[in-house]
Amino acid sequence: MTAANETKAILDRLGVAPAAWGGAMPTRSPIDGSTAGPVVETPNVDAVIARSVEAFHAWKRVPAPRRGELVRLLGEELRASKEDLARVVTLEAGKIVSEGLGEVQEMIDICDFAVGLSRQLYGLTLASERPGHHMRETWQPLGPVLVISAFNFPVAVWAWNACLALVCGDPVIWKPSEKTPLTALATQAIFDRALARFEDAPEGLSQVVIGGREAGEALASDPRVPLVSATGSTRMGRAVAQTVAARLGRSLLELGGNNAMVVTPSADLEMAVRAIAFSAVGTAGQRCTTLRRLLVHESVADALVARLKKAYETLPIGDPREAGTLIGPLIDEASAQGFDAALKQAVEQGGEIVVGGARVERDGVYVTPAIVRMPAQTAVVEHETFAPILYVLTWSDFDDAVAMQNAVPQGLSSCVFTDSVREAEQFLSAWGSDCGIANVNIGPSGAEIGGAFGGEKDTGGGRESGSDAWKAYMRRQTQTVNFSRNLPLAQGVKFDV
Ligand code: NAD
Repeated sequence: MTAANETKAILDRLGVAPAAWGGAMPTRSPIDGSTAGPVVETPNVDAVIARSVEAFHAWKRVPAPRRGELVRLLGEELRASKEDLARVVTLEAGKIVSEGLGEVQEMIDICDFAVGLSRQLYGLTLASERPGHHMRETWQPLGPVLVISAFNFPVAVWAWNACLALVCGDPVIWKPSEKTPLTALATQAIFDRALARFEDAPEGLSQVVIGGREAGEALASDPRVPLVSATGSTRMGRAVAQTVAARLGRSLLELGGNNAMVVTPSADLEMAVRAIAFSAVGTAGQRCTTLRRLLVHESVADALVARLKKAYETLPIGDPREAGTLIGPLIDEASAQGFDAALKQAVEQGGEIVVGGARVERDGVYVTPAIVRMPAQTAVVEHETFAPILYVLTWSDFDDAVAMQNAVPQGLSSCVFTDSVREAEQFLSAWGSDCGIANVNIGPSGAEIGGAFGGEKDTGGGRESGSDAWKAYMRRQTQTVNFSRNLPLAQGVKFDV
């Protein structure tokens, strides 16, 4: 069956409204290039925001643990539709079956996290310098949250944001990638099922805006949207950040990565090979946390590259729906052109292609993942090419390796493979990795939802998901209460009238 026909059958089962079909926005499966048909672009972004503002007035009055109940129901509906939604992720984003299922599991995990969080939106009590006064800090709902998401995590990123936003008292407006509108419509249908089981939920609590960059720009520029959470390329993040800053709004940015692994002489190479394979070629190199730079001690580089070459030569590439496939398609032809161009530049900059770098002849866009040995961290290595290219560089001094890891514009994820406590702890120290994520003896990709996720520098500085990331979705309020019969001023100021 074509990917498009299979997608249509699942969307029918999930109850995606027929009204969604027949518009002007094309859809296309990267698996075989088939199309399920164009979808309707959301005609009136202004009305969407107005509905969201209305929903906010009602939703902020609902107690947080009760808001958590809606997210609990969403978790139940996601569990019930896990296979279907995961399949749509596979069909529209080209992820292998196990990764599609993993992405929906991540949505379920964040639901569970957010339900617990709905009873833990803690504030502080503070000592006041004035007699008969007390001070506290509370966290209040913020308002409509705009979620702009990328194609490569077409549903998990919405869930990271939406689950926290909803328990924090904020309605959500979702502008998914124009490359994956169908997964968004499928998710919305599942959310609507949860909503139907929840009494008195306001209209417009979570809405999807189907559209391209212009729709994202229109939403991001609107002052009725206090927080814009944007996931995608650094180019997009720069544009959104400036738009939102111009109206003094808040943005939470999750942008491109250029993630490295430092391999030291004491590393367990067998384990490193497995970690490298998953991190560098999983999702066909289209994860923000994909391993792109392998920084290896010169004494183990040849042995490690030889083992990797062997592993790469037998990678099962093909239809991600088939059991055994590990590498699916690239999202589109433009992505493959970026892959070809980067390899050409790498060779021009002194690189030597060890393995891969070719197109695979079949419907859809498939390539063989590449390993390239580079003489230095040249311009092409500093740039995030969103495709499976692993650059290998060598070092002889551990301090230099850490400096190399940090010497790129991006700062998302990083890791070290070592059996030395000294090296591991240095990598995690203040003068170690400068990334938002730093791992020891684990690859840079595949984070759990319990930690705060995000990175520094060109990655945008945002943190989503676990830990105290929820604070970005709320308004901090400092409150001072006077329970005395006097009115002393702070700092001893006298002002008697
Ligand atoms: P993209 O930047 O092309 O598009 C992302 C989203 O931004 C889409 O919904 C798009 O319509 C929208 N958009 C683009 N320009 C806009 C503008 N000026 N104003 C408002 N919205 C705009 O990214 P992509 O190709 O879909 O995804 C790949 C990129 O995303 C990679 O760079 C990857 O590293 C990054 N990414 C980062 C994370 C993270 O958490 N750090 C996660 C996933 C993907």
